[in-house]
Amino acid sequence: MNLANYETLRKILQSEGFSLKKSLGQNFLVDPTVCPRMAKSACDKDTGVLEIGPGAGVLTRELCAEAKRVVCVELDEKLRPVLKKTLADKDNVEVIFGDAMKLDLEKLIKDKFSDCERIAVCANLPYYITSPIIMMLLESRLPIDNITVMVQKEAAERLCATVGDRQAGAVTVAVNYFAESEILFEVLRDSFMPPPNVDSAVIKLAVREKRDFEVLDEKEFFRFVKACFAQRRKTLVNTVSASMGISKDLLREALKRVNLPETVRSESLKMEELCAISNFLSGGENR
Ligand code: SAM
Repeated sequence: MNLANYETLRKILQSEGFSLKKSLGQNFLVDPTVCPRMAKSACDKDTGVLEIGPGAGVLTRELCAEAKRVVCVELDEKLRPVLKKTLADKDNVEVIFGDAMKLDLEKLIKDKFSDCERIAVCANLPYYITSPIIMMLLESRLPIDNITVMVQKEAAERLCATVGDRQAGAVTVAVNYFAESEILFEVLRDSFMPPPNVDSAVIKLAVREKRDFEVLDEKEFFRFVKACFAQRRKTLVNTVSASMGISKDLLREALKRVNLPETVRSESLKMEELCAISNFLSGGENR
């Protein structure tokens, strides 16, 4: 069954009386080259794969061919008969119907992947919750080896930017803290049914086993980073003092310790500098 084909997919969806829902980000892949590349990059025969949003199962089928086991979480119950049909010949897959954002991932990994050497997350993510899903996965600190997902091209550029570049935002810092990121390849809008208004890209986040950066208080670090990027055109001193209620003098002192001018804007700061300022503010050794 070649599901990555416009006519085949259309016929299957129609035969099950299924209509695509824009509100759930249902743009299904119909480009036969994309899913095999994603699956090969995400997993091997020792990997247990969590797929978020299998849709009609086009990526799922490729993951089943590459991985030891695949567990999918799909929000739309109406896809049940479609997936029953499209995955009927696969014996290493299970579909759970529910909201991926509310899932007890720790339990799922324990229950389903205890005999797998590695765990990966692979998905063509619903665009309306791309960043929340990625952050939830990274912050969960579960033993995930990599997150290989398709996102909007602009989101890919932001998520995989270098901290200190213009494209970077709070989410770039967070991704960088937890993972090494790369854009694997771009996917044009015509590869989907229906075509979205934007192009996409597949990114791979290789989760760091050990953090590269020393942060004294992680919660405070992420609060500081969020404050830094809230108004990126203003100086760090003005933005952070307003949103975190920290005195401008203390912020100037922090910048001085890191050899940065007091007019510096957050968007130009490197990862080490953000960590050093946050550590100073958290009452680190140099304060
Ligand atoms: N994997 C399929 C493909 O590549 O053709 C479908 C991808 S489509 C972009 C996103 C899928 O995520 C849809 O099937 C949608 O119903 C599902 N979805 C949306 N929100 C979800 C959520 N919170 N939890 C789980 N699945 C969700």
